Amino acid sequence: MTRGPPKALTSPKPLPTPLAMSAAPNGPAASPLPIRSSNLKHQRPKDKNNVEEKEPAPMIQPHPNPTFPKCKLRLICQDLDHAGANVFFSHNKPYTSISKAVDTVLSILYKPTKTNDHIPPTRSVSVTLRSMGGVAYTTGSDIDDDHKEIHFSLDYIRSINSERQEEEIQGVLVHEIVHCWQWNGIGTAPGGLIEGVADFVRLKAGLSPPHWKKENTGKWDAGYQHTGYFLEWIEHKWGDGSVRKVNNALKDEEYKEEEFWEDLFGKKVEELWNEYSEDLPKPKPKEEKVEPESVKQE
Ligand SMILES: [Zn+2]
Repeated sequence: MTRGPPKALTSPKPLPTPLAMSAAPNGPAASPLPIRSSNLKHQRPKDKNNVEEKEPAPMIQPHPNPTFPKCKLRLICQDLDHAGANVFFSHNKPYTSISKAVDTVLSILYKPTKTNDHIPPTRSVSVTLRSMGGVAYTTGSDIDDDHKEIHFSLDYIRSINSERQEEEIQGVLVHEIVHCWQWNGIGTAPGGLIEGVADFVRLKAGLSPPHWKKENTGKWDAGYQHTGYFLEWIEHKWGDGSVRKVNNALKDEEYKEEEFWEDLFGKKVEELWNEYSEDLPKPKPKEEKVEPESVKQE
């Protein structure tokens, strides 16, 4: 199964500079009133020595943990009679699949805060299933870039091997939903890094397809899983949240390659790539195929 020519698959549109969230939909809930002894019907008698019993300290309820902003989700199927539509709907409860993919992406790229002003202000994601070439792509809507459109090919969905349909559909959704929420250095980050972050998230979500493999040839920013595995190595080497830092560093400033990686990890990206390449298992040297005639391969 091939994904077609990589550059044609997805075309993330530059994300906007951050805007203030229009509303904080998940503000802290009011704390319940503390329970005071005077509220209780049955008070304990004071002790023998008539020592004034202090009221227990009010129970201060901590605010609930901040949560991610909510987002309107839509699904449009342009051809219910398409075999790909049958595959999609027989394997997915659409709201569950898409909202789960959103949760996965946000929890890997961000930690929620009270304001969530470090997260792109994406307000809606519309997934359109339609007949087209390639696999999928994501773009901002014509009216407002805070509204994202994912176009997912019904022909591609029809072509997925039957035993991998559910996982592959979810993997593609996760990849595309990353493009709805990732930063991109005000449109200056290399396309290979943008695609690499998307496949890193897919990898981290446990949705990597079986044909993906780590490669130490070529350039670090060749994109997709090639760069995704490199980012996974960085995450392993520099600790959890390292790729989150990479994404966050693309929030407000233009991407300047040398400073970017040195500020984050103290090294040039080529040095990191060389270290990664050396850490990968070396290919086994070719052995001469001299086998005794009695040994048969099974
Ligand atoms: Zn992509």
